[in-house]
Amino acid sequence: STISSYALVIFGASGDLTRRKLLPALFNLDCAGKLPKAFRVIGVARTAMDSATWQRQAAEAIADLGDDAQRAAFSKRLVYMPADYSSVADCNRLYDLLYNCDDCFESQGKVLFHLAVPATVSEAIVHALGKSRFAPQGRMVGNHAILVEKPFGTDLDSAVAMRKLLMDTFEEEEIYRIDHYLAKDTVRNLVVFRFCNAMFEPLWNRNYIENVQITVHEKLGIEERGEYYDQSGVLRDMIQNHVLQVLALIAMEPPIAADAESIRDKKNEVFRSLRPLFPGDWVLGQYDGYRQADGVNPDSTTPTYAALRVHVDNWRWFGVPFYLRSGKALTDKLTEVVIVFRTIPLCVLDDPNSCASVQRNVLRLRLQPQEGIHLSFNVQKPGIANEGIDTARLHFNYDEVGQITHESYARVVLDAMLGKPGLFWRSDSIETAWEFIAPALADEKNAPPEGYPNYQPGSNGPASAAKLPQQAGHNWYS
Ligand code: NAP
Repeated sequence: STISSYALVIFGASGDLTRRKLLPALFNLDCAGKLPKAFRVIGVARTAMDSATWQRQAAEAIADLGDDAQRAAFSKRLVYMPADYSSVADCNRLYDLLYNCDDCFESQGKVLFHLAVPATVSEAIVHALGKSRFAPQGRMVGNHAILVEKPFGTDLDSAVAMRKLLMDTFEEEEIYRIDHYLAKDTVRNLVVFRFCNAMFEPLWNRNYIENVQITVHEKLGIEERGEYYDQSGVLRDMIQNHVLQVLALIAMEPPIAADAESIRDKKNEVFRSLRPLFPGDWVLGQYDGYRQADGVNPDSTTPTYAALRVHVDNWRWFGVPFYLRSGKALTDKLTEVVIVFRTIPLCVLDDPNSCASVQRNVLRLRLQPQEGIHLSFNVQKPGIANEGIDTARLHFNYDEVGQITHESYARVVLDAMLGKPGLFWRSDSIETAWEFIAPALADEKNAPPEGYPNYQPGSNGPASAAKLPQQAGHNWYS
């Protein structure tokens, strides 16, 4: 599909997200020829500056990309408008900038508003847009859509309030809630791996799979983002969104088609099948040194680590635990899904030692780094005598089929422009996910029995996280 004429309005154009992610993503799309000729980026923020200054800032943001001619051409697309986020008059000025001038914008064009501001500011912007000339009867008319950054609220109530606010002015299909995780090559591959290979899907259920493990570990601590992180914590920052999306892709039923709603319907069924969490289903942690970081409350009980035992109560998965874990300041950066298959029903070998060394088959879907897929299985050790059995591994590394791109922002922005909602959260799923995570969130203010901090930077997280799988005779892999 093509886009003829387009304006992307970035609210918060002076900010970190715009500089680090959005401008480079847009530039890469431009160089790849994915942007229409008549494409403009209107940067809106309170900071007083003119277009030339913003263009210079943008040039710094993309200094390492492309060549001089490409950067100069991109710069011409950028226009800056200082504004107050809650001002209806400023929204009307924006309207004039887009529609009421000679060469500014073709009237049949589309406008995508991107809320690249802290969530507390988004509300004022949506209110002001809803009262402006973009929305004569309080609702958007014409080709408008809105891109919303996470967090989508901080709990169920705030998520419901945010949905109502957005839907006062926009239609659900005009709202794109970004989870850039869904745009990663390896995450998109989960659908292809499951539904384009005949050999795994028959095994993909409670009869053959003993447990599933989803790990999103970061080596870095909170770095410069103390103030944001201390309000958020790992449950809101990672588990409620990215980790549950990966779980949904692993657990969902085959969709009837590859269109966005078919897939989002199936994912939503997974969220609705999650067994409510009870105390004992989660372990929270905080790393040593977190409370001393800039912007963090010295008595903070915000968790920087969480491990959860989750059940998907449907026919396919009943009785199969899904172990989820995510945290900061850990041994390595690692995102992977581990599928642990059931052990064999009976060992027919006559050597008890060989039988004892039979391992469960394990399928690892490594999402990052060293992206790839690895399958382990048992083999006879070669030799004259009975040398026993060993575990062998089949490895697929992504670089065999091409270079992994790290352009998830480019992909989400392009999809939103093209009106393709598949990589975005739907409001019903967001709310079900908040409802699910609520008991663990309510427990956040209670430090665990051993107190905080309960793990060292560079470790594997709190020792107590091991007990979640151990209670069922399982172990964390890797
Ligand atoms: P930011 O730099 O803190 O804020 C963006 C801009 O919003 C600022 O330049 C500022 O512009 C305005 N602003 C900030 N605080 C404000 C306040 N209290 N009142 C009014 N205006 C304020 O935020 P960001 O890191 O770019 O993130 C923007 C959004 O993207 C957030 O919702 C964040 O959660 C989300 N996000 C960010 C990242 C990331 O990597 N940065 C990743 C994922 C999601 P003016 O002062 O010029 O108006």
